[in-house]
Amino acid sequence: MSTKLHFLGTSCMVPTKDRNHLSTALEYEGNIFLFDCGENTQKQIKLMKLSIGKIRKIFISHWHGDHVLGLPGLIQTLSNTDNVKKIEIYGPVKSKKFVKHMLECTIFESSVPIEVFEFSPNKGEILTVVDEKTYEITCSKLNHSVPCNAYAFKRKDSLNVDVEKARELGLENNPLLAQIKEGKSITIKDKHVKPEDITYMKKGVKICFVFDTRPCEGIDLLVKDCDYLVMEATFLYSKHADKAQEYDHMSAYETAMIAKKNNVGTLLLTHFSQRYKKIDELEEEAKAVFPNTVVASDLLSYKIKK
Ligand SMILES: [Zn+2]
Ligand SMILES: [Zn+2]
Repeated sequence: MSTKLHFLGTSCMVPTKDRNHLSTALEYEGNIFLFDCGENTQKQIKLMKLSIGKIRKIFISHWHGDHVLGLPGLIQTLSNTDNVKKIEIYGPVKSKKFVKHMLECTIFESSVPIEVFEFSPNKGEILTVVDEKTYEITCSKLNHSVPCNAYAFKRKDSLNVDVEKARELGLENNPLLAQIKEGKSITIKDKHVKPEDITYMKKGVKICFVFDTRPCEGIDLLVKDCDYLVMEATFLYSKHADKAQEYDHMSAYETAMIAKKNNVGTLLLTHFSQRYKKIDELEEEAKAVFPNTVVASDLLSYKIKK
C-alpha cells in the first residue's frame, strides 16, 4: 500500500479561488493523518475522493485561524461517520482549551470521544508524539508569533521477506513468515530458518511538516537528512523579504536554503500568500537554490517513492 501526500489546501491567511486554507493529508497503510485543518478542509477531502472515516489523527501546528478553522465542521462530520471510534487531536500548549471553545461555538455534542494531546517542546528539543510499531511522529518548536510545532512522520526500518528465497524454502505464503518478520527464527520440516536467511532490511522514510515559522534551530534539528520536507514558502524573497521577516514567515528562497543545508531529499512548498496569483516565481526562486523542489497546488496527490 503506497504512502501518499494529499494537498487539501495551500493558501495562507486568506483563501483564493484556487487555493484553500492550509491542510495536508498523509495517507499511510489505509490511515489518514491530517496536518492542520483550515476552513473547508472536509469539502476538499471529498473532492479528492479520500475517505473521511480513515482520518485517525489530526496534528495542529498552531492555533492561527487559517490552520484550524475547518476543525469544528470536520469533527462534527467525523462524529457522524461509521467506524470512527475516537478523534485524536495533537497540538501545542492550550490545544485542549481551543478545542473546547470550538466545540462550544455551536449546538453539537460529539457521539465519539475526542482526545486532545498537548506537546510543547523547548528550543532545541525533539519530543515523541506518537510511537507505534511501524511508525513514529515527533515534533519540535518553531519560531512564530505564537506557540507552533513542526512534525516529522517516520516509517521505521522494517524486515521484509525476500519472496524468491521464501519460495526456495517452500515457505511462500506460510503464516510462519509473520514470525520471521518479527525477527524470530522458525523451524519447518526439521530445518531451522533464521530471519537473516530470507529477509532484507527495508529502509524507513521520513516526511517533515513545517508550517508558520522563521528559520530556527527547531527546523534544522527535525528535518536533517529527511526524505521529504513539506514546508511553508509564503513570500518571494526578491520582492517581499521584509514582509517574511515582519510576519514571522518564510520566503521561497529561505525555505530552499533550509532544504539545501539540511540535505533534504525532496522539498514540497505550500502556504502561499494570496498576493501571488500564480506561483511560478516562487518555484523559480526555490529551484535556483534547491532544484528538487515541487510546488504544491490544491488537490495534488503526491506519491512517496520509498
Ligand atoms: Zn499560516
Ligand atoms: Zn500563523
